[in-house]
Amino acid sequence: MQLDFVLSTDRCMMTNHHGKEFLGFLATGPAVGIPESVWKWLACPKMEVDEYGRPVQAPYGLRKVEAALIDAGFKAAIIDPDYIDRYLPTAKALFVSHHDYFAFGPPSSTWWGITKKEPINYKSFMKFITSPAIAQAKAKGLKILAGGPSTWQWLWREDMLEKVGVDTLVDGEGEKVVVDLAQKILDGEELPKYVYVSDDDTPSVDEIPIIKGGSVNGLIEVMRGCPRHCKFCSVTLRSLRYYPLDKIEKELQVNVRAGIRHGVIHSEDIPLYGAIGVLPRPEPLIKLHTLVKKYYKTIAWSHASLAAVRYAEEKYGAISKISEIIFDDEQKYLGVEVGIETGSPRLAREIMPAKSSPYKIDEYPETVEEAFKIMHEHHIIPAGTMIVGLPDETEDDVYKTIELVDNLRPYRSILVPMFFVPMGYFKNKDWFTQVKLKEAHIELYRRVFWHDVYWAEDIIDRFYMKSPIYYPVRLALKLFLRAAKKKMKEIEAHLEQYLKK
Ligand code: SF4
Repeated sequence: MQLDFVLSTDRCMMTNHHGKEFLGFLATGPAVGIPESVWKWLACPKMEVDEYGRPVQAPYGLRKVEAALIDAGFKAAIIDPDYIDRYLPTAKALFVSHHDYFAFGPPSSTWWGITKKEPINYKSFMKFITSPAIAQAKAKGLKILAGGPSTWQWLWREDMLEKVGVDTLVDGEGEKVVVDLAQKILDGEELPKYVYVSDDDTPSVDEIPIIKGGSVNGLIEVMRGCPRHCKFCSVTLRSLRYYPLDKIEKELQVNVRAGIRHGVIHSEDIPLYGAIGVLPRPEPLIKLHTLVKKYYKTIAWSHASLAAVRYAEEKYGAISKISEIIFDDEQKYLGVEVGIETGSPRLAREIMPAKSSPYKIDEYPETVEEAFKIMHEHHIIPAGTMIVGLPDETEDDVYKTIELVDNLRPYRSILVPMFFVPMGYFKNKDWFTQVKLKEAHIELYRRVFWHDVYWAEDIIDRFYMKSPIYYPVRLALKLFLRAAKKKMKEIEAHLEQYLKK
């Protein structure tokens, strides 16, 4: 197989995390309590490939770019990182994509800042992008283009831009612009160093191509954009587009043909599929879940907003109706990531005034609690992220978040506080030494730790990975939890002595 364009990324992206998306979070930290090789296997096992080194499942964003290039008539394919050396000597360009190139994203930078150790995903990407195969091909004229949601991170690593020899950064939805760039490469034209995808170049729903091969964990997109306009979020800059059901069905069929029968439906807010503004509507949600369940034995949601969960259930009983569609002998729970962000109404009003809509922002903690209660009752297990350390955060804001964490204790969930790291820090190579937690933050992390251990044990025992093939993974997770609990008790003992002084 001859390729002009090779699309690839490192192992922490080119993996399906044993079919459990949530295990991917482990790659955002350093190994704890178990050897690094076991940790990496747990978080990022190798992907099955065909005879050409094409992965059976690949990141959805790369699949979209691959589809755009193939539809435009180019010889392009996604290649597993272990096989790129077969193609790079004769390829014209390498397209790389990542959601956290240099581990500046919130979970990675949080763990890096706290542990002062490089996260697994950082090490993995550095090994990939500085590999001899890429360096040798680059020396012979290979073009390198980098895109994906964390493209901005290259701007803080000019040293790496130079070292790797990246020709073009593509910032934004790339499906339209990559076609022009690919043509420029074949025509020997000069490439722009940086492409910001403007509204004009953002694809309409009809212009978004259909993936050609299986996506990691059967992830398929059902809408783009978000109407809530939180101040810290770039998704909000994108226009809102819903995929029609027939388009969704075509991607489901691609995945089923690739042997994938378990999948994640992706949008920034699944309960807002087909909504009017921030008001969910039951009909599109019922149709969507009925369709997806026709193809997938089990479903997960990528993201949901807590206000939409609360409203959909309180107004229409829509969460109950969806539960009736998806739960059966194959599926006993549904996983989702939710953004809690803060328990402080004051801070919420400042950074995300529409996060609680249609409920008042001053009621935000109540909205979070109500949504967690609804999800608990319907066997929906959320991973709730929080942002701490924002520049205008007060101690009182953190204590409000601690209060919320305490109030969420009855509800099955995993909480993930992520530390805000100002961009300027990343200019400094030792940025992580500047990250300093205050006493209130330490207390928050301590409460979250015990919440998570309590519910992680329950989730592993009652819901997660029940099949015998997962026994080694379950065992490794349990060993990790045991080691983490022991470590935390030691830390707490030190803290008590320190505070008594
Ligand atoms: S609700 Fe989530 S996706 Fe939407 S703007 Fe806020 S943070 Fe971004």
